[in-house]
Amino acid sequence: MKPREAIWKCIRSIDLTLLGLLYPKRCPFCDRAVLPGEGICKECAVKAHFVKEPACMKCGKPLMDARREYCRDCGKKSHAFTQGKAVFLYEKETKAALYRFKYQNKREYADVFAKEMAKRYGDWIKQKRIQAIVPVPLHKRRRKKRGFNQAEVLAKELGRELGIPVLTNLLIRVRDTRPQKELNEAERKNNLKRAFKISGSIVQLDYILLLDDIYTTGSTLDAAAAALLAAGAREVYACCVGIGGDG
Ligand SMILES: [Zn+2]
Ligand SMILES: [Zn+2]
Repeated sequence: MKPREAIWKCIRSIDLTLLGLLYPKRCPFCDRAVLPGEGICKECAVKAHFVKEPACMKCGKPLMDARREYCRDCGKKSHAFTQGKAVFLYEKETKAALYRFKYQNKREYADVFAKEMAKRYGDWIKQKRIQAIVPVPLHKRRRKKRGFNQAEVLAKELGRELGIPVLTNLLIRVRDTRPQKELNEAERKNNLKRAFKISGSIVQLDYILLLDDIYTTGSTLDAAAAALLAAGAREVYACCVGIGGDG
């Protein structure tokens, strides 16, 4: 290596170290700075509630009883999406982490969440021959208010991780629906009717992965999947960061 190159390389590495000090990566669970390359810090990694088997064959919710195939919800109703997976159980720490991610502009968490998703479900995604990742869209009014769509940030990170294209303009939210958590099951369904539209007329993709931050009852994913299926997709799968327990 020429001396000039060596000096330049040295300056660049100092520069990157400084950048790391100024904008450190943070652990999504305790929000403390972590070393470059470290995602969830060692202390939180021990405590984090990853979704483990047995999990619902349909929505991916962890099951208490290993003899069962489906969770209570999926035993009762069908879904428009073929199968779903989730990384963390949506409880205390995950709730707080996803709240900061979404409402306190901690977009950098997306990198950690997507890496965990890829690690756990990368093979499953490849097996399902997913051709594109589609984030569940926000209505433009809500997106403007929040400044970003958390599902889109996640989708981009996951797409980069797995080398799968991310389509952010295929699915559009045409109705600014009321927050799902304020509604009961029947109201949720009604609330989401005609909430999504496809920007073109035909979807020229067979296998699509929908991405969202939280899975509650699956009705948002169902409405989004139904719109994609009606436009020509063959199978729609889903992946979320957090999911509730069974029952
Ligand atoms: Zn931590
Ligand atoms: Zn289920």
